[in-house]
Amino acid sequence: MSYAFSPAAAPSIEIKGREERFPVHRIYCVGRNYAAHAREMGFDPQREPPFFFAKPADAIVENHATVRYPPRTSNFHHEIELVVAIGRGGSNIAKAQALEHVFGYAVGNDLTRRDLQAAAREQGRPWDTSKGFDGSAPITAIVPASQAGALHGERIRGRIWLEVNGETRQQADLSELIWTVPEIIAELSTLFELQPGDLIYTGTPAGVGALQRGDRIRGGIDGLDTLVTAIE
Ligand code: MN
Repeated sequence: MSYAFSPAAAPSIEIKGREERFPVHRIYCVGRNYAAHAREMGFDPQREPPFFFAKPADAIVENHATVRYPPRTSNFHHEIELVVAIGRGGSNIAKAQALEHVFGYAVGNDLTRRDLQAAAREQGRPWDTSKGFDGSAPITAIVPASQAGALHGERIRGRIWLEVNGETRQQADLSELIWTVPEIIAELSTLFELQPGDLIYTGTPAGVGALQRGDRIRGGIDGLDTLVTAIE
């Protein structure tokens, strides 16, 4: 078998303390998984449960890289999120077994063209152009579950934060997640057969806001690397 042209290299992410890299299969994202963020987007978290969307695997951007301000937007937003990396696949995974499918954890930024998202919402159109554009998924190295301490648990806590040019924009606690990591894995695996290499961006807390060219973004979660991204 041969290809008509060379296939693109498989997207991959650094694994903390290891030579091998994590090959990315798919990127799933959870929408409105913190009540305060659902409210700031104009939704009632009691009436609107979290839901899923996706980004292409090659949208990932390594830590400390530069992201070009994307075209066709004038309202380009940051969304700091806990990312769960799947190491073992499966369908209809039980909540009680869900953590056994986790390879590790990382800090991600679900970059969003908010103006295109608002237009899609109004017109009942898909979110791909607002969420799945090139360079839309910066991510840190993955910390393996065995080294993630209390982050690898059912009810997790820990500070999640993001600052732009040294000014704090987002600050919350992982205990505020509406759907926990095991609940997300259980629900997502009823819709898709999860595969090793899948990433799940678990949703952002309140405080999302616009980015400009020249901005320097830092974001983190206790126990994981700090995600640093420059916008140019
Ligand atoms: Mn998000």
